Amino acid sequence: MDNSRRWGWSNPPFTHEKLCCVWAATRGLLTLVLLLTTGGWMSPVVAFATPADGAIFDITWSASCQTPPAEAVTALDYAAGLWGTWISSTVPIEVRACWKSDLGSGVLGTGMPAGYIRNFPHAPQVNTAYPRALANALSGSDLHPELGDIRLEFNANLTWSFATTTSGGGNDFVAVALHELAHGLGFIGNLYVSHNTGFCGDGPFGSLYPCPTIYDRFAVDSDNIALFSYLPGDPYALAARLKSDANFGGPNTRVANAGMAAKLYTPAYWQQGSSFSHLDQATFESGENRLMTPSYSSARHPGPVTLGIMQDMGWLRVDGVPNVVTSGSRIVGVGTATPFTGTLLWDGYTGQSITYTWTTAEMTATRPGLSAADVISVTWDAPGEKSLILTATDGESSASAVRSMLAFAASVDGPAEGKTDRAYAFTANVTLDGYPVTYTWEATGQSPVTSGDNSVTFTWPVSGTQTITVTAVIEGAQTQAVHTITLEETVYRYLYLPLVQRTF
Ligand SMILES: [Zn+2]
Repeated sequence: MDNSRRWGWSNPPFTHEKLCCVWAATRGLLTLVLLLTTGGWMSPVVAFATPADGAIFDITWSASCQTPPAEAVTALDYAAGLWGTWISSTVPIEVRACWKSDLGSGVLGTGMPAGYIRNFPHAPQVNTAYPRALANALSGSDLHPELGDIRLEFNANLTWSFATTTSGGGNDFVAVALHELAHGLGFIGNLYVSHNTGFCGDGPFGSLYPCPTIYDRFAVDSDNIALFSYLPGDPYALAARLKSDANFGGPNTRVANAGMAAKLYTPAYWQQGSSFSHLDQATFESGENRLMTPSYSSARHPGPVTLGIMQDMGWLRVDGVPNVVTSGSRIVGVGTATPFTGTLLWDGYTGQSITYTWTTAEMTATRPGLSAADVISVTWDAPGEKSLILTATDGESSASAVRSMLAFAASVDGPAEGKTDRAYAFTANVTLDGYPVTYTWEATGQSPVTSGDNSVTFTWPVSGTQTITVTAVIEGAQTQAVHTITLEETVYRYLYLPLVQRTF
């Protein structure tokens, strides 16, 4: 399709609410023209059986909206069932759908996560907001059973084709539903531009839309620099990239995209709801990955790039490709070896030799000749946020998983010199705020002291160099710091005073 068709939208309708949508293509004619894509790649539409571990969708049409036609209900169920042939969850995904007539003109539908969750059990990446459906899938439980997971809206004013098993042409409802469901499953970013300034979760949308999300985490520019790393230092550079050079750089996406990060939609003026949260129109509009371009397409399959994006974010795929998952601590102590496990989840695994490659910023460990799991021990030597990327391959197929964790260090403040028989206080500090810490103090000639208190007092009766070691533990992860104090013998002159007097 001609990318210029959407330029008729000088004022996108979403100026204060973050919705993601698929736009009807238009040439800006007097009469809105909903163009149909009839040529090009068309995914085979076949009868399917939902895999046993494919995601199940529990769809509720909102009673506060219009009553949808029965065919729309059936077609949305069908589209959700298709997603269930591509991704896995043991937790039913709760969808709230709305049939309404006041969507912006030209907007076929909208889709977004109903909410996000961070730092839940088994979250692969620390301090990262996951869309609720994905957080539930990763944790294996409904983290907020009282809340829905995905919000969808569909334009009641349009003439739709509700055909299911065959692509209907016209405004193919199944194709639009597949697109909007992808947004609800997490194909949506919360980095944005306002007044030529880039924001991530702390601007006008920040309280509703946390950042970074798992989608934001993988956004890179052409120099492979993470976009959200431009904050807080250079919000103008972030804005510039969000309007010209944003790409999804996850490892599974790269494999699906000839080794390259997938170009995201970054028009020169920011379009809230469209920019950054879609694949680039010009790059992908004519191919098998066109479902997630911002303009309407009739695609009924996400294509390998979008499925790679889903997999990078943490969705397990059930369409026959390998998956690999990692487990381990989200907090690690500097200087302490920490184990991480990688597990292959793949129906196609028949015992062939698997090579596991673990990569951090500091090292790469390649471990060939293994089977369905591997365990590695990693030691970091400096605090901060760390990433650990695992790629598993049998030489033909591969899958990757990205973890991130926080490494913390400890230090001890206290005097370096002193005298015997005097009390000296020592204070431990850790580089991670906001977590309960347990400290165990061990010092030369002293009994160990364990408490949640970060200070301790020791008195030594003998001179010389004394070593104080503190072990700080957060969530089972530990690190140590060492301090020394050199003591001189205290000379008790006043004790000798009576002797002196007696000699007179
Ligand atoms: Zn969209």
